[in-house]
Amino acid sequence: MAIRGSCLCGGVTFEIDKAVGPVEFCHCNRCRKVSGSAALLMIGVNTKDYRFLTGKELVKTYAAPILYSPPAYHSTFCANCGCSVPLPNPEGDWVEIPAGLFDDDPGVKPDKHIFVELTPAWDEIRDGLPQYTLTELYKLRTGKDLPIGFQMRTHTSDKW
Ligand SMILES: [Zn+2]
Ligand SMILES: [Zn+2]
Repeated sequence: MAIRGSCLCGGVTFEIDKAVGPVEFCHCNRCRKVSGSAALLMIGVNTKDYRFLTGKELVKTYAAPILYSPPAYHSTFCANCGCSVPLPNPEGDWVEIPAGLFDDDPGVKPDKHIFVELTPAWDEIRDGLPQYTLTELYKLRTGKDLPIGFQMRTHTSDKW
């Protein structure tokens, strides 16, 4: 049975066969703005298991200024209701879908918090899930350390 998802107005609909994860709460400044909340919970899905169904004409994309190197951070949303939506035609073999869009149970649970050093003073992570800073996340994903002298940039820093 397909697992369905939609935007706030229902104009954009999609479905997946299954979610594989990771399922991450991102606490970075940009994901917080996109979600309008303390963090953005994104669910990883293999592109082959994902089908965009309706509302392609409603989908708009905003590319934020590049912090390090391309590709830019993209926010994709429904032009009618402003809700975050997944890309109609994602590139690559993996797509991230905001968890709140699912109308059915995607069958996975959050597995970690990322960019935790950007958690704002008014928030506190209280569950027992693993927490990763950018340095730790880079190591986890690439097996390497960040380059020496690496300086973190954020959406609200003045370096970009
Ligand atoms: Zn909508
Ligand atoms: Zn983020």
